[in-house]
Amino acid sequence: MSGLLEVFARSLRDAADVPGLELGGEAEPAATLSFGQLQTRARRMAGALAGRGLRAGDRLALQLGNRLETIELFLAGLRLGLVLVPVNVLYRERELAHLVTDAEPAAVVTTPDLAPLLPSGTVAWDVGALAAEAARRVPEPSPPLPGDAAPALIVYTSGTTGRAKGAVLSHGNLEANARTLLRAWRITDRDRYLGVLPLFHVHGLANGVCCWLASGCRLRLAPRFEHERALALFEAFRPTLFFGVPTVYVRLLELPEDAARSIGARARLFVSGSAPLPAHVFEAFRRRFGHEVLERYGMTETLMTVGNPYDGERRPGTVGLPLAAVEVRVVDAEGRDVRDGTTGELRVRGPAVFAGYWRRPDATAAAFDAAGFFRTGDLASRGKDGYLTLHGRASELILCGGFNVYPREIEEVLLEQPGVREAAVVGVPDERRGERPLAFYAGEAAAADLEAACRRQLASFKVPTAFVRVEALPRNALGKVTKSRLPVG
Ligand code: AMP
Repeated sequence: MSGLLEVFARSLRDAADVPGLELGGEAEPAATLSFGQLQTRARRMAGALAGRGLRAGDRLALQLGNRLETIELFLAGLRLGLVLVPVNVLYRERELAHLVTDAEPAAVVTTPDLAPLLPSGTVAWDVGALAAEAARRVPEPSPPLPGDAAPALIVYTSGTTGRAKGAVLSHGNLEANARTLLRAWRITDRDRYLGVLPLFHVHGLANGVCCWLASGCRLRLAPRFEHERALALFEAFRPTLFFGVPTVYVRLLELPEDAARSIGARARLFVSGSAPLPAHVFEAFRRRFGHEVLERYGMTETLMTVGNPYDGERRPGTVGLPLAAVEVRVVDAEGRDVRDGTTGELRVRGPAVFAGYWRRPDATAAAFDAAGFFRTGDLASRGKDGYLTLHGRASELILCGGFNVYPREIEEVLLEQPGVREAAVVGVPDERRGERPLAFYAGEAAAADLEAACRRQLASFKVPTAFVRVEALPRNALGKVTKSRLPVG
């Protein structure tokens, strides 16, 4: 049977009486469930899904926020051997049309506000009606248990260019990821995990929910990170464990000093990923909360692969060392390993790395090298002691008059300047040089001061040719800057 379900059973079955889940973003939880209650509800949900004709291998899309039913559907789907397709709640008609055509789900579980966005002809199931039906069911279906290689999820990549591809993650991938993280981050049933990240992304689902269920710790599931409610929520729930994205850490820095200190005193570990955590945010958080945020790196296709150590130095600006059982390479354009300190493409291999894209044998073949390493498309360099530093996406590399310009290096300089809240650098076509860097920033700083700062700190070919002030940078649901939506030209 699927090792993932076995690991989850240690909490769902063996700790049935233990309160495992609190729901809601207010200080007072809207409801608290034991693991046993959750298991019963998940079984009933499996009954409702089987009753509606779903069988192993069928896709079921979920366009749902962070709610109890999302977790029930996840567990029910795993048990039945369904392939769940989590869908970003911000997706609109065009994105949904692609996803429905590509994944061909038997149905999309959704809410009345989002259902009208689905292409006509799509089978839409209202989550409320489905839950009501599940509540009336008694018998549990018992189809054969899926194996480790069975697909559990198809997660569409948040790729900001081109058509989103569905990454197929198996039960075994999810189990390997959870086991690795439990060990790496010392997660146990004594932890209290505050979950604010969306469950339609691997950060919230494969890291958050899977580590919670595999460890048997207590989860407080909030609908989202809400800055105005963060203080009350942290003080009421008293988490020991928190997973965030850099934008969340930036907001947490605004909490009053004494609150930050007491939150920090109760917490054990803060983890950041999905986008670069600026070194100055790491430092400010350490001063205010008394914690060094553990920055890690991963992707939808690979789950978590690299992280700063739990014990040992958490080095700001780096993503740390390969996680257990993960092999990494940094290679040049010809696929040859580069020397330490040289930037190249990061490639990874390990038990949590997916087997391929949904119905895209061409893209799957192109995604792996001959030795079976996944080509991440991320640029990285390795220090003498093995710590890896990311330098942005290979596709964002700016080729400027024969030089490689890494947007992230310029962005870091900009972020260190007073009056710069956010910064993003992109390459734009240039007749003479091929491409040239263009900077966007939010904040009060004057463009002339930023140019002067770049001239002081960077080689001349890296200095952006213009500094465009914007209200805020466009970001996706995980807080990652979507450079394709910047007002270039
Ligand atoms: P996703 O598939 O949506 O999880 O996005 C994966 C991408 O996010 C990676 O390929 C990286 O470009 C980026 N990413 C994830 N973690 C980090 C990190 N700690 N620092 C910088 N970029 C990151």
